[in-house]
Amino acid sequence: MQTRIAPRFENDADIVEADSILRSCVHCGFCTATCPTYQLLGDELDGPRGRIYLIKEFLAGTPASAETLKHLDRCLTCRACETTCPSGVRYARLAEIGREHLENEIPRPDLERLKRSMLRAVVPHPARFRLALQLGTLFKPFLPEALARNIPEWPGTALPVPHPLQAATSDHRPTVLALAGCVQSVMTPQTEAALEQIADRLGYHVEVPPEAGCCGALSLHLNARAEAQDYMRRNIDAWWPHIIAGAEAILLSASGCGSMVKEYAEALQNDPDYAEKARQVAALARDPSEWLLEHLEALPLEHKNRGPLAFHAPCSLQHAQRVQGKVEALLERAGYQLTAVADAHLCCGSAGTYSILQPDLSRQLRQQKLDALQQGEPCAIATANVGCQLHLQGGTELPVRHWLELLAETLLPEKS
Ligand code: SF4
Ligand code: SF4
Repeated sequence: MQTRIAPRFENDADIVEADSILRSCVHCGFCTATCPTYQLLGDELDGPRGRIYLIKEFLAGTPASAETLKHLDRCLTCRACETTCPSGVRYARLAEIGREHLENEIPRPDLERLKRSMLRAVVPHPARFRLALQLGTLFKPFLPEALARNIPEWPGTALPVPHPLQAATSDHRPTVLALAGCVQSVMTPQTEAALEQIADRLGYHVEVPPEAGCCGALSLHLNARAEAQDYMRRNIDAWWPHIIAGAEAILLSASGCGSMVKEYAEALQNDPDYAEKARQVAALARDPSEWLLEHLEALPLEHKNRGPLAFHAPCSLQHAQRVQGKVEALLERAGYQLTAVADAHLCCGSAGTYSILQPDLSRQLRQQKLDALQQGEPCAIATANVGCQLHLQGGTELPVRHWLELLAETLLPEKS
């Protein structure tokens, strides 16, 4: 796709990058067929090819408009279009640049900006997030439905007790690193506990440095790139001494964090102090399924028939990380019969903060996804990312669990 960059964008490194991405698009439209928002709305401008066209026009000098931003905001950044694209167009990076520059030219309405600032100020900080949730349960009846449906009932479910972080020990076993993260550490700490239990049975110590925290994805998706890079640097600093000491891998149990950490090298490539460290961190980052399949023969699983299970592969796992079939292979090995799920490539509508910022579209996508997942009458739904897990659980009575929890339950009892 030929582009003509407007003079006001010349000499902007991001725009040079955007221009090169635009040139890789041949406008074939294959991506449109797999785009969830195009399928829902049927508008070319709510599909990848249309959004690429809008960004191209904006960079060529068409004035920024709220209409253009609306179509870009409706994008889930699910990256299904990247998986489909035969030309390797880096759509997510292009959309990130497009949104950032559009937002600089047409500021959002005050309420919208406040919502986004609140999300950035609260969600990446576990103590604040926990407090906000506790207050939220009290005030749930007065909150907008989009917010209320993500908050546990009051005085019903108490928030889970945080899983204690693994501080540095004199453990001489081989080490893998992990990330407690932000939302997962508050809402589903049992996921990290399950990872540690499985790694322990393989003879590994899991180190979770308490100085590490949010991976940076939330800030990045809300167009706060400098803030996201600060989170990345903090995590690199927290992991670095353990990497120097020989840590084998960084296991990211939330696939959303995994996709972000695997892209640290790209995100910090222009930072002379962190570029090389970021490259090494990204090279060590693994989804636990990748790591566990390498240790499959040593994994002490109890083999028995465990009934039908539906697996929802988060977009961050299947499209961003391109990890496909690995979790499924582990669950089948543990005795689950995975049911067929139609349109498994489609997003469930969680997509980070999308369920809060685009509640109507998000709800429609969730219902479609739940219908597909429940088609095979499973006894539970498994997934790989805390956001999808909570979002799907909000719409079904079936238990929705992280696959690591399910796998940990299939471990043979330890010999005493
Ligand atoms: S499939 Fe790729 S090359 Fe074709 S229109 Fe979509 S982004 Fe462009
Ligand atoms: S990232 Fe997802 S929602 Fe956005 S254009 Fe691509 S397929 Fe559509």
